[in-house]
Amino acid sequence: MQSGPQPADFADVRATNLAVVLRHVRTHAPCSRADIAAATGLNKATVSSLVADLIERRLLRETGLAEHRIGRPATMLVLDGQPYAAIGMEVSADHLTAVAVDLAGEQLLSWRRAFTGTETAAGKAVSTIAALASRAASRVAAQGRQVLGVTVGVPGLVDADGAVRLATGLGWRDVELRADLVRALRDPKYDVAVDNDANLSALAEHRYGAFAGTANLVYLTGELGIGAGVVVDGRLLRGGRGFSGEIGHLQLDPGGPLCPCGRVGCLEALAGVRAIIQRVLPEAEADGPVTDFAPEIDEVVRRARRDDAATVDALAAVGRHLGHGVSILANLVNPDVVVLGGNFVPLAPWILPAAQAELAVRAVAPDAGGCRIVASGLAQGAAATGGAARALAAVDAGHLPPFPAV
Ligand SMILES: [Zn+2]
Repeated sequence: MQSGPQPADFADVRATNLAVVLRHVRTHAPCSRADIAAATGLNKATVSSLVADLIERRLLRETGLAEHRIGRPATMLVLDGQPYAAIGMEVSADHLTAVAVDLAGEQLLSWRRAFTGTETAAGKAVSTIAALASRAASRVAAQGRQVLGVTVGVPGLVDADGAVRLATGLGWRDVELRADLVRALRDPKYDVAVDNDANLSALAEHRYGAFAGTANLVYLTGELGIGAGVVVDGRLLRGGRGFSGEIGHLQLDPGGPLCPCGRVGCLEALAGVRAIIQRVLPEAEADGPVTDFAPEIDEVVRRARRDDAATVDALAAVGRHLGHGVSILANLVNPDVVVLGGNFVPLAPWILPAAQAELAVRAVAPDAGGCRIVASGLAQGAAATGGAARALAAVDAGHLPPFPAV
């Protein structure tokens, strides 16, 4: 089911109608002016005027003629959007990612840099993030595109002002990230935003993933922590101060292991990437804590493929813990799909069956309310893609960019 702002949300009827037309073409292209009029209930003259405006803004373009019905052949419309792009970034414990995506959905760049979040003072981290953002923005501008926004995803509690209140995985507390970035980028013309990584990943999945457009969708990050980005009725659920979705700190086992948050038995302490590695590869941390998890996850996958019994059992236990956590979500918000991301993706074949079975047992609704747990098909860096999606989605919501320079 598609969802989005309804016309009554906006005072400016024309901006609303422009967005309605744009969204229709996004989901139904190629389509004709008559198709748009029939589907939206707007009259044909209004649609023609709106389409002319959108073509002038280079948000739509005309393609060939199609004789798909009796009468005159219709000129078909598709999305353009190439003159506009947005940049998304992801700060994680072991790397920094930047992507740029244009409004037509084409990925323009994807960069990944080593970055040791836990060993980097927040001030130094801000300048590193700003430098990468600035280079990405320059690259996009050099291609003749207008940058609509830069959005940075952080694994932690991010408030409405873009300040990171707590990011245990990075060792950050009360970092005024958005304000610091705006200063470091010297008050750029584009929008600068900071958001929780799970929220942004959910936006990426909702716009580009295999379940795009699903009105009730949850994304679970599988980085150092486990966070949930929760889309309910087509909108991201944020809560009063923006701190919703901390599923990783649901206490599933009061007698469980210590969590970095200081409590015990949290989902993250039972099923997070560090717990997986400690259980399957106890020797990995003999020389101190692991900071880059990719080689260890590769080794876990190798052992699981060999049907190593201890590994397969450990991953099934992780699946049961995830299914337990998801059942709480299922009982509260009844998602249609829960998408596992990050390090859970390569481990999914051994995690998902146990997770789905545990969910079925614990959810009160028959058939878990229709909830399916799946692995993300988006490449790692979903939060960065979601950062770009955030600025691009604002256009669909009626915040049209200014006319491109000719
Ligand atoms: Zn915890």
